[in-house]
Formats: sequence, structure tokens, C-alpha cells
Amino acid sequence: LTAGGWGGAGRSGAARRGARWVACPVTVATGCREVAPAPPLPAGAMVKETIRVYARVKPVGRRQQAGIYSVDDNEKTVSSLEIIVPRDLADGFVNNKRENYKFKFQKIFDQEAKQDVIFESIAKPVAECALAGYNGTIFAYGQTGSGKTFTITGGAERYSDRGIIPRTLSYIFEQLQKDSSKVYTTHVSYLEIYNECGYDLLDPRHEASRLDDLPKVTIMEDPDQNIHLKNLSLQQAANEEEALNLLFLGDTNRMIAETPMNQASTRSHCIFTIHISSKEPGSATIRRSKLHLVDLAGSERVTKTGVGGHLLTEAKYINLSLHYLEQVIIALAEKNRSHIPYRNSMMTSVLRDSLGGNCMTTMIATLSMDKRNIDESISTCRFAQRVALIKNEAVLNEEIDPRLMIAQLKKEIQDLKDELALVTGEQRTAELSQEEQIRLNELTERFLEDNDPESILDVGPDMRKIKYCFIHMKKLMNHSRISENKVFSQNILEEDTSMQVRKEELKLKELLQQRDSEINILVNMLKKEKKKAQDALFQLNAVSGDSKALDQCISINLEERQSPSTHVNLKEAKDFSCSVRRLPFLSRQTGAMSLGCQEAFEVFKRDHADSITIEDNKQLLKQRFAEAKSLGEKVNEVRNKINHLKGEITQRHIQRAALAVASPSEELSKFDPVEEKLRAQIEEEKKSYKMMFNHLKGLKVEIEHLQLLMEKAKVKLQKDFEVWWSEEATKLQ
Ligand code: ADP
Ligand code: MG
Repeated sequence: LTAGGWGGAGRSGAARRGARWVACPVTVATGCREVAPAPPLPAGAMVKETIRVYARVKPVGRRQQAGIYSVDDNEKTVSSLEIIVPRDLADGFVNNKRENYKFKFQKIFDQEAKQDVIFESIAKPVAECALAGYNGTIFAYGQTGSGKTFTITGGAERYSDRGIIPRTLSYIFEQLQKDSSKVYTTHVSYLEIYNECGYDLLDPRHEASRLDDLPKVTIMEDPDQNIHLKNLSLQQAANEEEALNLLFLGDTNRMIAETPMNQASTRSHCIFTIHISSKEPGSATIRRSKLHLVDLAGSERVTKTGVGGHLLTEAKYINLSLHYLEQVIIALAEKNRSHIPYRNSMMTSVLRDSLGGNCMTTMIATLSMDKRNIDESISTCRFAQRVALIKNEAVLNEEIDPRLMIAQLKKEIQDLKDELALVTGEQRTAELSQEEQIRLNELTERFLEDNDPESILDVGPDMRKIKYCFIHMKKLMNHSRISENKVFSQNILEEDTSMQVRKEELKLKELLQQRDSEINILVNMLKKEKKKAQDALFQLNAVSGDSKALDQCISINLEERQSPSTHVNLKEAKDFSCSVRRLPFLSRQTGAMSLGCQEAFEVFKRDHADSITIEDNKQLLKQRFAEAKSLGEKVNEVRNKINHLKGEITQRHIQRAALAVASPSEELSKFDPVEEKLRAQIEEEKKSYKMMFNHLKGLKVEIEHLQLLMEKAKVKLQKDFEVWWSEEATKLQ
């Protein structure tokens, strides 16, 4: 502010705020409006009623000639005032035949009414409502000299002449002291409006010799149409004495600024406001109310008497803002009027809530009933009759102090945390630990991978964990969706191909082992056969002298045919000729192997032209097997490396997610150079993996080819041997 502190004076704003913040039915202080019993205050804390209008007749001076009027107090709730227009006055105007006027008031205080009675009847109920949290306004309306200032502020001579302001201050502080159930704060402001300009009467400099020396107060309207008064100081008053000092300061400033030349007091409006805020200890709800005590400018008018006008109808206000006040009041009294011209003058703007808004308003029509002022008195009464039609809607002004609310909520959170810790038996921090996060990641992933439709993800009754799992799941989903076509499908492909490679490898290994064992068996067999042959040769040599090995072998066979002792040998030779034909199945028929044939085959094989090719191929095959083996190992290595890199990326994600949970301001989507590097590495590894894999595939083809070649060569060798053997056998036969 806008020192004024009139914030929320706007009709709509205040009403809205009231509606928004009133949390529970409010009990309003009893005694509110006790003078003329108003309907009981509703629990909803909204009071709808017309402006109360009272009349006060100023004592007629000794030298004044009293006009004729009568007060009828018979009725309980209303009093009526009848004014008789003097003959001599009425006669002067054409078309004016009326001689008496009757006006109704809430109550009429005749000349002898004292200040204390005025306070008790008019001001005290309003003060009580202000203490309860409702806005209140009391304004005095009447011609200059009719007793407005006397009524509102009071007379300077006697203590008993104290007016409504000092008495209200005294009463309010007395009540505040009595009520220890709430914490109250009171401020006062004092505004003078002269010629559409606002002046702060509580300027503490005491230097004002003219109104213009006082700080100028201007009106500001916020988007919610709340009125704010810029530059109006709001002075805190802790007790009655401080408040009265401020009132005195304002009145002094008002007096000094007024010179006989400028009759400010008759043309200006003075608004003394008591601002009360109350709060129950520990509660975040604050009640604020404002009590305006208004001394309006003189309502006297310029009458165009004698110019053919009508008495009391052609008269114009001297003070323009009172003219606007009347316009506002006429507009408010009319039904279905949507636009109320509050903004036409500063005074109506400031008093907007007091007229047709969120306020309990009371008007005192001050009347000077001497003969000369009858017309003005009738004007005042007519004005009062219109004001009496205006309905106001006073709302209990409650609002929540956000700071107190925050403190209260914080306390509530702590209490709940304590309770939770008590129930669960574990202290919970706001964040999950790294281990917990990793564990939750695992659980979530396992849950996602689980094909069992009845599997559940149970992380216990811990909202933090549940939320974390959802976040992790989302991350996994997003991640897999983004890289669905790249990484995920690549993964599957890799998995497939690596499985294939492994199968091939196994097959090759098996084959190699089989071949190795076959070769071993053959070698062992050869060794055995060789030994047998040597033994046989040794025996043979011992019998028939020495001869060349191969010739002997053949000749032995021939001799055997003739010698019955060597019958078995002959049979063996026969078997051999058969077995030679079955050579491709040699490994499975080892038992039937003939020494001579084997020996001959070995020799044949050694000298055969193809044997070199076979040997070469055998070496090549061995080499290729070795190559395939090491390549297979390398492929495995690369695959492991890729998996490792992938693991690193996942770890990285977890870390970043944890970081994002710890400080949500960190963007998760931010570019991560480390991850990018890892991905690049994976790509590299994949390249070499593919390369090696293709190489391995090529090797496999080559190995298979070589095996076929060897197989073919073996078959050819055997066939050649067979042919040669049978030729030799025939020759020999
Ligand atoms: P206004 O403020 O309406 O111009 P004032 O309050 O200044 O009128 O009153 C004019 C004079 O009449 C003052 O001297 C005041 O003391 C006196 N006066 C007004 N009302 C009363 C009253 N009810 N009893 C005694 N004197 C009064
Ligand atoms: Mg006055």
C-alpha cells in the first residue's frame, strides 16, 4: 500500500474475499445493533440491511427563532419528524401549496440529547460490529453549523461534549483490553477531502499552514476494483491515549489549514478511520474491519429563489461532491440500476463500500431548526429518506494469513511424519537412498519382464517408492520407445546372431573333437598295427631270412595261401580287401583292420599325389579352426563389452534420475555427453562385432568347404587305393 490500507474496500473484492475465506460459521458478538434490534446475524456471516438513518436536532440558540416541528416517538421502531413550513416563507413561492413535511427516522434526537446518549444509541452498536469483523460507517450529513462536527468529533469546551470519535476509541480499546482471547491490532487514518483532493491529516510534521502543505492522497483502483489510497498514512495506535493523540494531531492539522478565507471545514469531508485486525492465537485466520467516522461538508445549497423555481427542488449543492453523493444514493435506491456512479467524486469512491457495499452504515442527519434554515432542514431530511432505502451487505472480513498458513501446514506435515514414523517404525527422509533406488529399479524391471499375469510389484506402503517405481517405469517405456527401432531391435538381432554363432561354434568344436579323436584312434591303431607288423616281421625273418618289407608282406600273403598254418592270415587278407572297400567307414570298423592292407594303404597314401593336398587342407582346416576359435572368443568379448557399455548407460540413467528427484530443477532431458560417448563406443563395438561376425561366418563356410574337400579327397584316395589294391591283388593272383 499505498499507506492507506484501504485495500479491499471495493465492494466486489471484499465480498469475494469474504466468500473465499470464510471457512466456518462465525459467531458475531452479541449486542451488535442492540439499539434497534436487527434480525439475528446469520451464521454465514453476512448481514444484509438498510442504512440506518437518525436525526439530531441542534439546540436553537437564544437569539434564533425556532421553526415549527414536532417529533413523534410513539412508534417503537421508527420515529417521525414533522416540519411545518412557515407561512411567510411558503407564501413567497408560486405553486407551492404544501405546508408540512413528515419524515421517518430510526430515531430522532431532539435538542436536549447529550453526546453520551448519541454514542450509546448510534455509535456503540457500530463499534461492536467493527470489533466483530464487519466494516462500519457513521456519517453526519447536514448544513454548515447544524452540528456535524460537534456530533462526530465533539465540542472543545467540555469533556462531556466529546463526540463519537473519542468515545468510540475509548470504547474500542476498553473492549480490546477485556478480550484476551484474541490478538488485536489497531491503526487509525485521517483523511480530508477538499475540492476532489485528498490530504493526510495525520502528517506528523506539524508544519502545515495550508491544506496544500499536507501529503496529497490519491485514489488507486486495482483490477478487482478495490480502492487503495496512496499516501494516506496508517498510524498504529496501541491504546486509547495514542489514538486520541492522533485524533488531536489530525484535528490540529485540519484547524491550522483552515483560515477564515477558505472555509475548508464547511466544504471539505473528513474521514477518520479506525482499522481493527484480530486473530486468535495459533489461528491463521485474520479478521479485518474498518470503522469510518465521517464528517461531511455542509449540505447547504444555492437556491434560485424567486426565479420562478419551486421551493426546495431547484436548489443546487454548493459542494459538487455532495451532488455526486446524492446521485449515487438515488442510483442505489433505484431498483435494477447496474451502474452506480461512485467514481464521479473522490468522496463517493472512498465511501463506496459504505454506500451499497460491504458495510454497516449509519447516517446522522443533523438539523438546525431555526426558522431561516427550514428549507435546508427539509433538504437534509429528504436526502435522509433516500439514504434509508439503500441496502448494504456487510460481510465478515476474514482472510487467511499465508505466512501463518504455511507455518501451520509445516507443523501439520511434521506431525504426520512423526505419526508415520511411529506407525511404520522407520524414519523417512524426503528422498530415497541410492541403494533403495537401485533395488526399486531391479524390482520394476523384474516385474516388467515377468510374463506371469498375476505377478505384482510390491514395494510396500511407501508413496515415495511407489512414485519412484512409476517414474522409473515411465523412463523405461520412453527409453524403449525411442530406441525401439534402433537399440531394442538391434539387441534382439544381436542376441539372435550371437546365439547362432555360438551354436555354429559348438558344432565346429564338436566336429573338431570328433575328428581329433578319430585321428587319435587311427594313430593309436597304426601304432598298434605297426608293432604287430614288426613282431610278425621279426618272427618271419627268424623263419625265412630277410627280405624287403613290402615284398615280404605280399609274398607272405601268397605263401600263406599255400600254407595251412597261415590260413588265418589269408582270411585276414580277404577281409582286408573287403574292408578296403569300406574304408570310408574305417573308423567304425577298426576291429576288422588288416595289418598288411593298412600298411599298404599308408604307403599308398604317403605316395599318392592327392595326399599333399589333403595334408595341406588338413593344416589349413586346423588353422581355420584355430582362427574361428579365437574369433569366436573375440566376438564374445565384444558382446560382453557392448553389454557392459549398455549397463553403464543404464547406471547413468539411474544416477541422473536420482539427481532429478533430488533437485527437480535439473532437467532430465538435458544432453549428457558421457552417455553420448558411451553410445558412440557401443556403435564402434557393434561395427567390429559385425565385422568379426561376418568373418566368422566366412570362416565357417571355408571350414565346411575344406571338410568337404578333404572328405572328397579321402574318398578319392581310398578309391584309388582300392583300384590299385585290386590291381595288385589280381597281379599277385
Ligand atoms: P457543522 O460541523 O455541522 O458545521 P458544528 O458542529 O461546528 O457544525 O456546530 C456549530 C456550532 O454549534 C458549534 O459551536 C457547536 O459547538 C454547536 N453545536 C452543534 N451541535 C450542538 C449540540 N448538540 N449541543 C451543543 N452545541 C452544539
Ligand atoms: Mg463542521
